[in-house]
Amino acid sequence: MKAIRFHRHGGPEVLQYEDAPDPKPNADEVLVRVKACALNRLDLWARNGLPNVQIPLPHISGSDISGVVEWVPDEEKELVKGEEVIVNPGLGCGRCERCLLGMDDQCKRYTIIGYGVDGGYAELAKVPRTNVLPKPEGMSFTEAASFPLVFLTAYHMLVSKARVLAGERVLVLGAGSGVGSAAIQIAKLFGAEVIATAGNDSKLAKARELGADHVVDHHKQDILESVREFTGRAGVDVVIEHVGKATWDKSVRSLAKGGRLVTCGATTGADVATDLRYVFNREITIYGSFMGSKGELLRVVELFKSRRLKTVVDSTFELARAAEAQKRMEKGEHFGKIVLTV
Ligand code: ZN
Repeated sequence: MKAIRFHRHGGPEVLQYEDAPDPKPNADEVLVRVKACALNRLDLWARNGLPNVQIPLPHISGSDISGVVEWVPDEEKELVKGEEVIVNPGLGCGRCERCLLGMDDQCKRYTIIGYGVDGGYAELAKVPRTNVLPKPEGMSFTEAASFPLVFLTAYHMLVSKARVLAGERVLVLGAGSGVGSAAIQIAKLFGAEVIATAGNDSKLAKARELGADHVVDHHKQDILESVREFTGRAGVDVVIEHVGKATWDKSVRSLAKGGRLVTCGATTGADVATDLRYVFNREITIYGSFMGSKGELLRVVELFKSRRLKTVVDSTFELARAAEAQKRMEKGEHFGKIVLTV
């Protein structure tokens, strides 16, 4: 099969479009002919290389896969060859206490398709049978690949961690990111008032289209001052953080009393300082969040089926142009998801 692989860590130049062996599924796996695969920040982290994380090399990135079932084991009764599917990107062991409690994102062996194992920047991908879901009707392959990872992440942050309530105020940083564009929609769906930040007028307009009540140009306006203005100096109840160093201090100080900050990433750096006086005086809670459970993704899928959420696709690139697609993500030019078509 054709695939985009990297044999060493580095910039986009290490990505090679080349022949790779077809994946050989085990008895508990199925083979999917990939039609589309969305990019995630994770792909850049894996490609660049991370301290203390072993990425098997050569590696095929790609966590958000849509496609057609190519092969199933003989004993498989429900899934048939040719069925249009999406793939749940989270991999737990399925046997430990955390997995069985439905908290598979906290499994000790947890990893993500396209990160700990090969993913969907390829013509074929093997995935566990339990990770395969029917593609929602009426959704293109591109749309179907664009939502699982980021909407699962945003749902877990807002609903399972922050337990957002109707009428609360939510600050969403980086509206143009996949998680940001998902978080705006989910916060609105749960009845919150949303303040979203982005880096130019076109992104701010799109954030408003997704439902943001107030927008802040983070290059021209101060996030903290804007939050104070929009909230009558009270602050927000929830902050959705994934930016890290560049925004952390303002995110903490934007919180109202009893506020919750949920972080799922540190795009601009992880080395942050927290003024603890804000944490104890205001009784702030800081949550770490990483992906979500398989069950939560099923809830997200239902919300797409009932048209309460919509996909946000920025652009598509053919598989062979994956390096260009990753460069677009690195430059932060995108709003929503960048999707590879296969
Ligand atoms: Zn487990």
